[in-house]
Amino acid sequence: MPDDAVAAHERGIANALSAGYALLEKGASSLDSVEAAVAVMEDDETFDAGRGSFLTRDGRVQLDALLMNGENLRAGGVACVERLRNPIRAARLVLDHSPHIYFVGAGAERFARQHGMDLIDNTELVIPRERERLFKAQQAEIAGEADTTFSGDLAAATALDSHDTVGAVALDIHGNLAAATSTGGTLNKAPGRVGDSSLIGCGCYADNHSAAVSLTGWGEPIMKLVLGKWAVDRVASGSEPQQAAAAAIDYLYQRLGGHGGIILLGPDGRIGIAHNTPRMAWGVQTPAGAQLGITRND
Ligand code: ASP
Repeated sequence: MPDDAVAAHERGIANALSAGYALLEKGASSLDSVEAAVAVMEDDETFDAGRGSFLTRDGRVQLDALLMNGENLRAGGVACVERLRNPIRAARLVLDHSPHIYFVGAGAERFARQHGMDLIDNTELVIPRERERLFKAQQAEIAGEADTTFSGDLAAATALDSHDTVGAVALDIHGNLAAATSTGGTLNKAPGRVGDSSLIGCGCYADNHSAAVSLTGWGEPIMKLVLGKWAVDRVASGSEPQQAAAAAIDYLYQRLGGHGGIILLGPDGRIGIAHNTPRMAWGVQTPAGAQLGITRND
């Protein structure tokens, strides 16, 4: 996250927190809350989700999103959608209305339209800042300066390798956990590539019997380790959420040289936050108040 984007990230997180928490205060479900929080961040061009996302190598926005209900393990996901402003809303429709869990591409868009969502032109999701970012990434690739192996190696990462996926975890008054993650994926990705964010157990997972989790970072290493499920399982077997979060990021780096960030919430309300990227923006709200932060390793 470059210095000039810090304030916008803080604002975006604050807006998402209040949208999600306002629902929880009214007694809404954790599922409604994470959906609302993530939709606010999809609508905010600051983040790599919804409009303003990173572009594929052919200059389009392709979005992935998943949400999961920890009460009953119901989940809904969409990937490679190009014509939806809020993929997390489409994921919610899948969770609520389909016997299936996961839709991709045109089939996902058709399902969303059949359930009342507007289909838009992909150009409505593309902003000039991202055209410029893609141009620079492709110039760097031509010059041989980019990490074209997509290894996720932090040492090989450049300033272009930022990760701005959004996610939320929540616990409601009924004691139910939920998690949601939404992303435009990685910059300059090949069309059709799906990352960790929308895959169950990778970038998102929720189970009342363990924990709720959302991750960001280089998707391929996170997928190989099924890291979201790895982290919640540690909570189930007795780790503190903070310990499990730190251990997950450590495992990601030690095993595959990967980098990323994680937010984790246990069924008793304890949280875990960890990242090995230089910075990560996060916020947490409880009845005791809100806390916003951009933690730094740099
Ligand atoms: N994890 C996302 C992906 O690989 C990218 C990110 O977090 O920025 O698609």
